[in-house]
Amino acid sequence: MKTELVIDLEAEKQEILKRYRALLRASKSTLQKGDKKEIRKAFDMALESHKDMRRKSGEPYIYHPIAVAQIAAEEIGLGTTSIVCALLHDVVEDTDITLEDIEREFGKKTAKIIDGLTKISGVFDTNSSLQAENFRKMLLTLADDVRVILIKLADRLHNMRTMDFMPRHKQLKIASETIYLYAPLAHRLGLYAIKSELEDLSMKYLDPDTYKFIAKKLNEKKAERALFIKKFVEPIDEIVHEQGLVADVYGRPKSIHSIWNKMKKKNIPFEEVYDLFAIRIILDSAPENEKADCWKAYSIVTDLYRPNPDRLRDWVSSPKGNGYESLHTTVMGPRGQWVEVQIRTQRMNEIAEKGFAAHWKYKESSNDNGLDQWIQKVREMLSNPEANALDFLDDFKMNLFSDEIFIFTPKGALIQLPLGATALDFAFEIHTDVGATCIGAKVNHKLVPISYKLQNGDQVEIITSSKQTPKEDWLNVVVTAKAKSKIKSSLKEEKRKIAENGKEILERKLKSLKITYNTDNIQKLSYFFKLPSTQELFVNVALGKIELKDIKEYLLSGKEVEHRSPERPENLSVDGIKSKIKGGDSDILLIGEDMQRIDYTLAACCNPIPGDDVFGFITVSEGIKIHRTNCPNAAQLMANYGYRVVKAKWNKQQELTFLTGLRIVGIDDVGLINNITRVISTDFKVNMRSITVDTNEGIFDGSIMIFVNDTEHLENLIKNLLKVRGVTGVTRFDA
Ligand code: MN
Repeated sequence: MKTELVIDLEAEKQEILKRYRALLRASKSTLQKGDKKEIRKAFDMALESHKDMRRKSGEPYIYHPIAVAQIAAEEIGLGTTSIVCALLHDVVEDTDITLEDIEREFGKKTAKIIDGLTKISGVFDTNSSLQAENFRKMLLTLADDVRVILIKLADRLHNMRTMDFMPRHKQLKIASETIYLYAPLAHRLGLYAIKSELEDLSMKYLDPDTYKFIAKKLNEKKAERALFIKKFVEPIDEIVHEQGLVADVYGRPKSIHSIWNKMKKKNIPFEEVYDLFAIRIILDSAPENEKADCWKAYSIVTDLYRPNPDRLRDWVSSPKGNGYESLHTTVMGPRGQWVEVQIRTQRMNEIAEKGFAAHWKYKESSNDNGLDQWIQKVREMLSNPEANALDFLDDFKMNLFSDEIFIFTPKGALIQLPLGATALDFAFEIHTDVGATCIGAKVNHKLVPISYKLQNGDQVEIITSSKQTPKEDWLNVVVTAKAKSKIKSSLKEEKRKIAENGKEILERKLKSLKITYNTDNIQKLSYFFKLPSTQELFVNVALGKIELKDIKEYLLSGKEVEHRSPERPENLSVDGIKSKIKGGDSDILLIGEDMQRIDYTLAACCNPIPGDDVFGFITVSEGIKIHRTNCPNAAQLMANYGYRVVKAKWNKQQELTFLTGLRIVGIDDVGLINNITRVISTDFKVNMRSITVDTNEGIFDGSIMIFVNDTEHLENLIKNLLKVRGVTGVTRFDA
């Protein structure tokens, strides 16, 4: 036994060195004199301080920091300082090494980045409602030094790649945070490859069945697809070279997550998703020829294949805010299939793959500074102390994902806004006061309302009035986080003033009724009028929504109001419910069995049925709600309110039925509806709640709400429905 252990350790040592040398090779292109020594020093320190630690998989812990450093070097293109920081990213948190040690050995800059990494490392582990606030802190560090976030992304990517050994509930939580925040961040920083991988890995854990289903489907047609791509690419390749361009032309598969998104968004089965891959033309161009070469290649492609005029995207002339440059077109392929073609130069491609870091490498040669502007915006948003952390996060996330449009001021200056932005967003972008007093706009010299949705290239002049003030419904008009938070804080201020006024009115009234003005009486009044806070009471009084005679009547009647406590402090009820579950046989809520003991309902947003992978979520006022782990709301709930999530499992022995929806499409045929309903009600004895059918030019499209026992029952039903003549597709839907 003893000798075996020694041999293992020796082999491990070799493996560690092997991995370290691979890291050095990966960082070679950025190494300067003395860098190798720095990296070695960091490696030795990490190796020594983590020496007795192991990962959940049993592997030596040091594998993790080496891998994170390798991702930082190879996949993000970061330099020596970042590699050193990545190697040391867990030492301050997990070992005896202090920040002072790091500063002494590696200098101030390194210590500062590691400090940032240590501060945000605890962000998601806390069992508190402060997660949103922590996200905010994390973004603050981003505004400090972007490398902190880039290394954090590398750390997260490696953790996601090696999550198999984690318990299921941790996998769910980590995957939720990843899809909720890290993938959008990677997207915004232009790290497309990492973003796609993070999304796919999250989906693998959050929605394993769908993930496996699509992966299998993709694999089935792999050879066929490769042949198609070869045939499609051949003539392009030939002519491109004839015309003297140096280019690499190839097909690239799209990610599973993006395919699934398309299926959901368009409500189509896998077979109808046409862009399972994109064609890339990567040109080797001299800097001064880049743009001309891209359009030359575009011209070659569209001479061979007919382009869809609505699908041309030119990010070469106006790059995206995260630095992305590329020319996209969609053309009709030889078999009547739309194919997306992406054209860009090697420089542009490096930016597309590695994002930020590569972008900065070339920064001297271009004067585009979209990312600087973006980081400036993040700083502005964070500096608003009024913003509620969770609202902030939602708004912020929205802006992470959106595409940009370019709008001109009357003087011709260019302003970037997210797609869907309105005239009012533009006004707030110019200046808070311009936004707050905006009454309309002139777009391309035509008068439009504040809600007007701007189009790329519009020229906008804002019209203001000193009498205007921000209104509640403006929140539905704007999409930018900046406008939203400015409107919210102005409304809050407004409300505060109204409440003050209402308070004075109430004080006067009570005085004239000879009733003392005190907290007790004010609280009683808010209970009586069923208002959530005394501020609401004051506001209602000021706005005349509460008649003063009603107040008089109530207070003089001497009746006691039922003491309905307003909102209980939520942690209390969360802990209460959790301890109730733990009072059972396990800490897992058994759906069906624990019904008498614990109050729960099935969430209407995803209609879970037995067999679905589910979790329980403790709501503020409605007990526990059961959601599917692939519910559209799941990631947001798990990422932000991890402490309210309870594990849940279906109890097998039950005779209950659950409502779910099926969408059936096919060729309309005499008796088709009859045949479908026969399978459902006669063969399967399933109750239907409703049927809606659309037939259009011979195409049948029906939605049926039915009651089933569990997923197995449902799958069998779907299988049999697919056998009905004329039916071409059956899919489950949620609402
Ligand atoms: Mn780590």
